[in-house]
Amino acid sequence: MFGMKRWSSIRWKIVFIYFLLVFIAMSIIGVFITNQLEAYHMDAVRQDFTKIVDDGILSSFNDYKNLNDHEVEIQKNIETWGKSIQEEIFIIDNNLKIIAVASESKSLIDKSSIGILEESLIVSGLKGQIAEKDGFSSNQGIPVKNMVFPIGSSGNVIGVLYLRADITSVYEALDRAKMIFIRAMFLALFITVILGFLIARSITVPINDVTEKAEKMAQGDFSQEVSVKSDDEIGRLAEMFNLLRGKLNFTLSEISNEKSKLETILKYMADGLIAVNLDGQIIHANAAAMSMLKISENDIKNEHFDMIMGKYSRSLTLTAMKRKSTKWEGYENFDFENSTFFVRYARFMDENDQDVGIILMIQDITERQKLENMQKEFVANVSHELKTPLTTIKSYTETLLDGGINDMETTKGFLSVVDDEADRMSRLVRDLLQLSRLDYNREKWNKRNNEIIGIIKNVVKKIEFIAKGKEQQISILFNESDSIKVYSDKDKLEQVLLNILSNAIKYTQEGGHISINANKAAEDVIIVIIDDGMGIPENEISRIFERFYRVDKARSRAMGGTGLGLSIAKQIIEEHRGSIKVESSEGIGTKVILTLPISRG
Ligand code: ADP
Repeated sequence: MFGMKRWSSIRWKIVFIYFLLVFIAMSIIGVFITNQLEAYHMDAVRQDFTKIVDDGILSSFNDYKNLNDHEVEIQKNIETWGKSIQEEIFIIDNNLKIIAVASESKSLIDKSSIGILEESLIVSGLKGQIAEKDGFSSNQGIPVKNMVFPIGSSGNVIGVLYLRADITSVYEALDRAKMIFIRAMFLALFITVILGFLIARSITVPINDVTEKAEKMAQGDFSQEVSVKSDDEIGRLAEMFNLLRGKLNFTLSEISNEKSKLETILKYMADGLIAVNLDGQIIHANAAAMSMLKISENDIKNEHFDMIMGKYSRSLTLTAMKRKSTKWEGYENFDFENSTFFVRYARFMDENDQDVGIILMIQDITERQKLENMQKEFVANVSHELKTPLTTIKSYTETLLDGGINDMETTKGFLSVVDDEADRMSRLVRDLLQLSRLDYNREKWNKRNNEIIGIIKNVVKKIEFIAKGKEQQISILFNESDSIKVYSDKDKLEQVLLNILSNAIKYTQEGGHISINANKAAEDVIIVIIDDGMGIPENEISRIFERFYRVDKARSRAMGGTGLGLSIAKQIIEEHRGSIKVESSEGIGTKVILTLPISRG
């Protein structure tokens, strides 16, 4: 799959180059050697020829004026020479006639040499030159070497000595050599191809390995390690590849870690985040943003940013934000479905400092605002609560100072009012101080395993006389001999029960009924206080635990209530890991249910 089977692959190129190299080298060597061999053999034949002449065959003709006169003599002479050598000897006169022959073909004597022997060679000989020529014998067509030597002195050549040798064996030897050579070449080429293939393999296998793994890496699989088998260039390549892989893997995993970290942060952060590009397309919106603005993935994909944000605030459209400041920065509050949101935005740029878009951070500040409002309300309430008694005290003391003091009765009456108001203020301050201690965990708790029945009886005893004053009846429904222990602060529990019972008395008409019960239920004790008084309107039940909240303000105040009793009670009960619940219907009565865990062992 990586081209290793293609003919253009490195493997085949290397094999082909090796093949060509060996082929060319062998061919050159072959041609060179055969040429040399031929030259060597020819030289040997030539030397044989020259040896015949050197042995003195020519000197036997020295005395002749012409050759024709001594034909028989010459023939005899030549035949003697011819016996000891393999070459054929011809003596030819200057009329190109064969005079004597030392060979098988004696029939050629007295015949013209034309057409039988090499004419051009004979002509050269007759001119006094020693010459040679290769060719084929005219009768049998076998390869021969011919050589001529002039007879007679220079300027008076009377004939030529014509030597002819059969060189078939020379050519046979050459052919054999060529055959051996070709065979050797084939063997060499075969070995070359095999070797070339193996060498190429040793190069291409690691390269293919690297390529294959690089391809896998490109697909995101970084577990690929190339095995380094050698310390040559390819080994270094593999080593570098592994190094690169390691570094890439590390960098990529770091990037993806960063990315997933960022994604997790964005996903789980409480604030909403929206990134929008300059075209008004929302690039990113985290889950918080989507749930705050009640928008879906589909809205994000299909709707323009201005369409989405414009719904909440006109000044949060792209153009409005860009127009607001040169840096496209700012903040904005908007309300949506009973919630208040705070949006802070700023532009963001790419690495080339080109504007990409705007990022908006959205915070749900409903709770914060509620708290702030509560705080403001609290201060207003405290001031108001203090102002009323203070005004009363002030006006009464002023009246007294203006002469009212002379009337003893009036003075007494006035002073008792001042005393009442001072009491109310000190109750208020006492309650506020306790609330603040509870808020800041400064309250001292003195918890023990207390008998809850005893505590309730104690409280009832303390408050009975007030109920009697209103001719109300308090019924105790629980079994007074029961033993239910609660790990608790006795004084604080008494305070809670007193508050609840005194509320029941306060908000129940004269002659009303109040009952109190306490029962074990699983691991808890449930205390229920029921009155048949004025009750609480349904929509206000949830608010009576708020600080200073009173259903009937004038009545509560007239009764000396601070409006803090139930909120303190709630905090104390919760500190005991219990709960307080109120059920009521207006004009029928109220039921307060306290649940406290029974202490173990
Ligand atoms: P307060 O000092 O005014 O009694 P609390 O915190 O004890 O303050 O109670 C808050 C308000 O809850 C009271 O002002 C009263 O309107 C209402 N409330 C409490 N208990 C009863 C009850 N048993 N029947 C009717 N209203 C009640």
